[in-house]
Amino acid sequence: MAVEPVLETVERPGPAQPIIRFDNVVKKFGDTIVLRELDFQVAPGERVTLIGPSGSGKTTILRLLMTLEKPDGGCIRVDGQPLCHVPHGDGFRPADEKHLRQARKSVGMVFQQFNLFPNMTVLRNITEAPVRVLGTDRAEAERKARELLDRVGLSDKADARPHQLSGGQQQRVAIARALAMEPKVLLLDEVTSALDPELVAGVLDVLREIADSTDITMLIVTHEMHFARDVSHRVMMFDEGKVIEQGPPEQIFTEPEHDRTRSFLRAVV
Ligand code: ADP
Repeated sequence: MAVEPVLETVERPGPAQPIIRFDNVVKKFGDTIVLRELDFQVAPGERVTLIGPSGSGKTTILRLLMTLEKPDGGCIRVDGQPLCHVPHGDGFRPADEKHLRQARKSVGMVFQQFNLFPNMTVLRNITEAPVRVLGTDRAEAERKARELLDRVGLSDKADARPHQLSGGQQQRVAIARALAMEPKVLLLDEVTSALDPELVAGVLDVLREIADSTDITMLIVTHEMHFARDVSHRVMMFDEGKVIEQGPPEQIFTEPEHDRTRSFLRAVV
């Protein structure tokens, strides 16, 4: 397999209370069981990449963490907040809205299709949620948004509309927008899959810089295996709603134990 040797091993965070915790999580769509009693934990500051064949449930995991989907069983905790049906009397009651709200504040997501607000300027795309959801003063939100735009290399685009930008630029705005909410966890769902090949590197460079300079926890779904190897502390291989193998990237990419992982990596690398 054509993977270059790893020059530097990313330091793994020490033991801590997990910031993400899945216990026995089940998710079904109709008769299709997508996640089968899934257990995993992510430590604060850890960067974990989910790999696996299409349909293995990776995006569903991110959407559950964003509370865009509800689990059918088990419990998810984000920064300690339970997003599960909790025992109540003889049965269960759904997760408390208070916990859902708190969990949503801890998590930001960048989607494959950017999902910017088309009728707002770039600056407004970034300031809207901090002003409306967090109650940040508009002038302060704009100051911070300009800092973030500078960081993603788009300081001259504050007044542009999304349609005036390339896909790569739109995705960098989407990254700035997610960071403006100061989430503890950043979810990245195939953020370069919709981009023309020449625009991919610019977006990955921005993400590398964020990984290098912050301690934000990242959960990453990507087919960019070199990027995954560079930024991840851990890679988890999924198949049919289960983790079949996990470990540091140098192990998973160079010496996978499972045949399923080997054949998947042969197909994508
Ligand atoms: P991956 O990200 O690994 O490609 P997904 O989490 O997107 O996998 O999908 C897992 C499975 O769940 C697939 O079989 C997909 O068709 C199904 N699925 C995902 N979302 C929905 C939905 N909203 N309704 C019905 N089926 C869905």
